[in-house]
Amino acid sequence: MTARLRDGFGRRFEYLRLSLTEVCNFRCQYCLPDGYHCDKDDKPQELSLPELRRLIAGFAALGVWKLRLTGGEPSVRRDFAEVLAMAARVPGIRRVAMTTNGYRLAERIVDWHARGLGALNVSVDSLDPRRFADITGQDRLPEILRGIDLALGLSMPVKVNSVLLKALTDQELGRFLTWIKDTPLSLRFIELMQTGDNGEFFREHHLPASWIENQLLAAGFSERPREPGAGPAREFSHPDYAGRIGLIAPYAKDFCASCNRLRVSSEGQLRLCLFGDGGYDLRPWLRDDEQGEALQEQILGQLGYKAAGHRLHEGYSGSTRHLASIGG
Ligand code: SAM
Ligand code: SF4
Repeated sequence: MTARLRDGFGRRFEYLRLSLTEVCNFRCQYCLPDGYHCDKDDKPQELSLPELRRLIAGFAALGVWKLRLTGGEPSVRRDFAEVLAMAARVPGIRRVAMTTNGYRLAERIVDWHARGLGALNVSVDSLDPRRFADITGQDRLPEILRGIDLALGLSMPVKVNSVLLKALTDQELGRFLTWIKDTPLSLRFIELMQTGDNGEFFREHHLPASWIENQLLAAGFSERPREPGAGPAREFSHPDYAGRIGLIAPYAKDFCASCNRLRVSSEGQLRLCLFGDGGYDLRPWLRDDEQGEALQEQILGQLGYKAAGHRLHEGYSGSTRHLASIGG
């Protein structure tokens, strides 16, 4: 399948991040510090299983082969296991990944793997159980780490997302490095992004990615050459460590030049950028199986509006109030 999704800046899009729900059962301080709420009359109208199938098939027909299911917390959807199995069967989709907070991961990972989950990202902001509970509102670190071990035991590629937080990550870097010494996972430090809702937290806890880069270089890590088509993460490795480290630095110059992903919200809005203004509603083209080509035309047409880059440096986070609303 040739990639038909290219924009005017030479970027190719073969990767879709699909949010299954805005709902989340954690209360991460930088994302949903008061937990997820919605008015009774304003309940999100999540895409149904058939709508999701048509959407994924439409993107796959345009050359998308990698799909990430995210949220909110994707696993809180009751039909998550069915969505997973359906997505893995869509012709053209070669890899289905998910990003999860790890809730009940240990109980579910064997089933998810059997249904076609090919790669896993789990968020772990602290390796100290008390600190973890403080950041996420959930005292579940040991069971999440057990879930990660089970996934590794199934030979799944595992990435751990850890948001860089001043007065937190800087105290724990040694502990994280000890973890990946013998554990073959990819640890991704994500620079905290300012969103509509988290301005105060951002000002208090933003730690530039350059801080961690300097620490890694001093500890003998070196940056790996970029692979063709790789996304915006920069990868570091060390001959004595089984794991690798990825740095996601959205404030870095040229970060957007390697953007390789498109996003669709849980209600079917195509989001060309995590920090763009609003989305384009694809739902009218998801109602039945007859509209596959029209859906593809809509997606292709919208790509022309993808901007060269976000304006986070100017403190502008578009209409994104928090990342749970669009899928990080
Ligand atoms: N609930 C799932 C989870 O936490 O993994 C999936 C959705 S969450 C929005 C996806 C990723 O975005 C998580 O790794 C989370 O830590 C990260 N994230 C959320 N808000 C962020 C922010 N303001 N800056 C940087 N990363 C953020
Ligand atoms: Fe939920 Fe993920 Fe946001 Fe944490 S980062 S509140 S787990 S959506």
